[in-house]
Amino acid sequence: MKIHEYQAKELFQAVGMPVPPGKVATTVQEAVAIADEINRPVMVKAQVHVGGRGKAGGVKYAENLEAAKIWAQRILGMDIKGLPVNKVLITEAVEITSETYLGIILDRVTKCPVIMISAAGGIDIEEVADKTPEKIHKLAVNPRVGLRPFEARNLAYKVFRDIKLVRQVTDIILKLYDVFWNVDASLVEINPLITTPINQVIAIDGKVNIDDNGLFRQPEIEQMRDLSAEDPSEIEAKKAGLTFIKLDGNIGCIVNGAGLAMATMDLVKHYGGDPANFLDIGGSSNPEKVLNAMRIILGDPNVKAVLINIFGGITRCDDVASGIVAAVKELNPEIPIVTRLTGTNEAKARKIMKEISLPTAPTLDEVVKKAIKLAGLNEE
Ligand code: GDP
Ligand code: MN
Repeated sequence: MKIHEYQAKELFQAVGMPVPPGKVATTVQEAVAIADEINRPVMVKAQVHVGGRGKAGGVKYAENLEAAKIWAQRILGMDIKGLPVNKVLITEAVEITSETYLGIILDRVTKCPVIMISAAGGIDIEEVADKTPEKIHKLAVNPRVGLRPFEARNLAYKVFRDIKLVRQVTDIILKLYDVFWNVDASLVEINPLITTPINQVIAIDGKVNIDDNGLFRQPEIEQMRDLSAEDPSEIEAKKAGLTFIKLDGNIGCIVNGAGLAMATMDLVKHYGGDPANFLDIGGSSNPEKVLNAMRIILGDPNVKAVLINIFGGITRCDDVASGIVAAVKELNPEIPIVTRLTGTNEAKARKIMKEISLPTAPTLDEVVKKAIKLAGLNEE
């Protein structure tokens, strides 16, 4: 689950990390009132679950109330990378002398939280990692022991020399680790962590992603969920009891089992397609689930073909086939649907597919190739 910058900063503030004063607004009047209260130049910042807001025009400096009003008017209702801006953070503008990147991720390779710090802050850290990885200093923290102060200090020294700055950054790293650990985060990030002309270190941006599997014990974090900022198809899928993640590709995938779903997506990539989603209909074979899955996938205009790959065990292929029939009747899809239904009751299922003239394929390899071909993606 993602939370907004203003919520991340609330978590930072709660552990005593320095962030500029500010509040969130949903209307222009509110924004102006907050700027008035701050009574200094402010930043007007779009609150959306995506990075690079600055480049997209969603982060603006306002010298006075008039400017704050104009920017709030312009940014509220804006669209950033497909996400509508319903909220703006109005926060005191600070003078910047340097921008540092500081982040912690849960690293699957070392199975540890990994802290990263880089003097190349403020900009796209993925690009730094790609082109100049030596500019990022890393430390894997032993999760049983936790982060020790000397380790945080050593990291701070990788980027800073001045002892006054090193002390502040050390403290921030330790506190950021506490936030990461205590909210079951999969990622926490400050980009940029800045220094001011009077040598203060302040977090002026904040990002916190929560591991969904930890949410059951994070009721306060769950309260922060902003449904209006989430992808509508993912919300619908959750209601329908489907495990669904929207992606940017063009082959819609309906699969049973997470492992098989991932293998299917890998093969789609391998043969030159691009999965539009991850979707696991789960172990039961309720036709209703298939219908809901089809509805969600067909609602995505990028999808050029639907690939249904079912390995029937407890899941009965004929039930899935009934779901497909219901979906075809109700939704009248205009794009090709290719199925591979194998395992329990597969003969029945294949007969049903034949009756509604949907193409089938016997193996995973073949169904993927067929889907890509019918989607018209691999014509050369
Ligand atoms: P992002 O683009 O979504 O990562 O949003 P940020 O909050 O990181 O803001 C983008 C950029 O705007 C930062 O890297 C800064 O260069 C600039 N910026 C943000 N807040 C301030 C501020 O208070 N003062 C100044 N001078 N620049 C700021
Ligand atoms: Mn940023």
